[in-house]
Amino acid sequence: MGDGMIRIGIDIGGTTVKLGAVENGCDIVYRDTRSTPHDARDLSLLTAAMLRQARARYPGAPFALSMAGAFNENGNFDANMLGFENVPLRQLMEGAAGECVRIENDGICAMMAEHAAGALKGCSAAVMITLGTGVGGGVIVNGRPLKGKRGVQAELGHMITHVDGKPCSCGQTGCWECYASATALSEMAGGMPVKDVIALVREGGLADVWKIYTHEIAQGLISLCSIFSPEAIAIGGGLSNAGDILITGVREALARDRGYSLYYSGIRVLPAAFRNDAGIIGAAALAE
Ligand SMILES: [Zn+2]
Repeated sequence: MGDGMIRIGIDIGGTTVKLGAVENGCDIVYRDTRSTPHDARDLSLLTAAMLRQARARYPGAPFALSMAGAFNENGNFDANMLGFENVPLRQLMEGAAGECVRIENDGICAMMAEHAAGALKGCSAAVMITLGTGVGGGVIVNGRPLKGKRGVQAELGHMITHVDGKPCSCGQTGCWECYASATALSEMAGGMPVKDVIALVREGGLADVWKIYTHEIAQGLISLCSIFSPEAIAIGGGLSNAGDILITGVREALARDRGYSLYYSGIRVLPAAFRNDAGIIGAAALAE
């Protein structure tokens, strides 16, 4: 996206609404940050006002929104973070802005930020996972985010990696996120906070726990490699703050797997490049 065009990305989080005008896919040349109103109508009005202000500088710039949550079968929006249940968010946003509004899930936006300008740049097929309270992520196929029925994105964390395994919050058993999330890592270490676990692992401690945990991540990734044949895998989410130790651990666990070494060893496993600005950059990448 080195076309010099300005696209606007708006990232609606639980505490702040962040608008950024993005040039060349990743340069944020203008920012506006406000507190998030927890009322959908107020939120729509604020977002529209921020957009108008940005467009006074960048007339006609296309924009899109990144937000945690999902559209339900009624076409309304559910977002736990803001206490939104069945809210007609698109209608409110479009009413306030006076135009069509593209709203995308924050996981998809984080992935598209990596695709536009980060770890997955230029990939035709790629996988992004986020390791945090749960396991999230998405898939890029033919350079676009893979969408299923009703525009629902892949739910990688609820792929089953253990037959009849642990019960998951989603109602299934044996979901990948029960074993590969930061929450699971903490449980494996007897409930120790994740940052303490990471600090110990960094000093060479908890070797067994770390080996099992990275193996759990690797086994899920190998299944995803079988299905999607990606060029690269990006790892983001809160746990990616652990840095090199996580990427190295996952790469080592993958290398220990004979099947992976046979078929997939050319796939790049990389840390996500964007953290705080992922929502802005990813939404801007989807703006048209
Ligand atoms: Zn699940």
